[in-house]
Amino acid sequence: MTMTADTRQTKRPNAQRPRVVGVKTEVPLYNGERVRYVNLDSAASTSPLIKVRQAVDDFLPWYSSVHRGSGYKSRLSTHLYEKARDAVMRFVGATPATHVVIFVRNTTEAINLLAHRIQLEPDELVLSTRMEHHSNLLPWFRRAHEIIDVTAEGRLDMEALEQRLQHHNGKVRLVTITAASNVSGLITDIRRAARLAHAHGALIAVDAAQLAPHRTLDMGTPGTADAIDIVAFSGHKLYAPYGTGALVVPATLFVDGEPMLVGGGTACLVTNSGIKWATGPDLEEAGSPNVIGVVAMAAALEELMRYGMDRVAEHERELTEYAIRRLQAIPGLKLYGPSWEHFLSGAEDRLGVICFNMEGRHYGEVAAILANEWGVGVRSGCFCAHLYVAHLLGISEEDAAEARDRLIAGLPVDLPGMVRASFSLSNTKDDVDRLASGLLAISRGEI
Ligand code: PLP
Repeated sequence: MTMTADTRQTKRPNAQRPRVVGVKTEVPLYNGERVRYVNLDSAASTSPLIKVRQAVDDFLPWYSSVHRGSGYKSRLSTHLYEKARDAVMRFVGATPATHVVIFVRNTTEAINLLAHRIQLEPDELVLSTRMEHHSNLLPWFRRAHEIIDVTAEGRLDMEALEQRLQHHNGKVRLVTITAASNVSGLITDIRRAARLAHAHGALIAVDAAQLAPHRTLDMGTPGTADAIDIVAFSGHKLYAPYGTGALVVPATLFVDGEPMLVGGGTACLVTNSGIKWATGPDLEEAGSPNVIGVVAMAAALEELMRYGMDRVAEHERELTEYAIRRLQAIPGLKLYGPSWEHFLSGAEDRLGVICFNMEGRHYGEVAAILANEWGVGVRSGCFCAHLYVAHLLGISEEDAAEARDRLIAGLPVDLPGMVRASFSLSNTKDDVDRLASGLLAISRGEI
């Protein structure tokens, strides 16, 4: 059965929140005490759902080679592997009538595949943005591209996007943007970006690695002005294990040309004088696939759809609001990105991704204290978004280039960075309290 985007939104009054594995795990502190681990690094990876573990356990006795095996287990495995494409389609609001789901290892592979396969005429180019994770930036450095800047406060500059589209006058083949930032938690107006791209004859691709676990992702009606043409996401940020992700593309996009990886499954017939390539997702999924991973990812998506992404968003919004209010009260703590006041007033939505620094303390030290003294797992550094983090930290291109040259020359560089706390549906206000207590102790100089 294919659900529409609307049925995915239906509220189920008593739906139980999906539970994740390991929320009660205790970890040792520096002093030897053990405390419940508080995971505030879900923007990097989420722990799997209990439903995912069950699905994997149920599947393990049955799993076998997919596609060409004739045995019962092979046919069952093939059925589940192919059915997982349907779960992805429903999760992103796409249909097999117009789109193809290609299973990949993660968002990075999805976008590399897109960058490899998208066909550009010699005078055509791709537009990406300064807000991107390197996964949606570095693959484009290998193709003709331009980077759209962000505003001074760190928002995607839609006027600049429109201006570059006009300037290139129909020569932009693809606009590729993140649906939500892994640094500031800002949510991109992908509908507006789609309208702009389409008005200038470009396709739009969305890196949904961050948005997909937290908000409804709806590609819209294909062919309409604000539809999203291409979507990529990772299973390990969506409560499934590592090693799976999806690239959803129009069925007509990768018909010509050769796949990025060639090998088993990618050809219908091979002769000494030439190859008849396979069609559809087979063409892009060379070699034996990650069947268990795909079944696990589909179980995660089904569970999230059962619960409803609107409920996930509601829970996380409440938690983020609580966290911002607590963190804003900590002396010496600087939050990065545009002011959170718009979010707090309800004027804009934003993911629970909060980046900060403590005055007078190194970001790495703050992250280590939170881990070792408080049992809180955060992340620190530049979050694979160097251009954006440099902008938010106010580092000039000249200073960044100088640091790069020192690194190339093998000289030491203390790279600037931030601390990032990120929330998922498994977090509670107790988790926020632990983070705030740790930061308050650091702020008071107690540690
Ligand atoms: N895009 C964004 C916005 C991300 O936050 C990340 C990972 O943090 C990626 C892409 C890359 O995801 P993966 O490492 O699963 O390929």
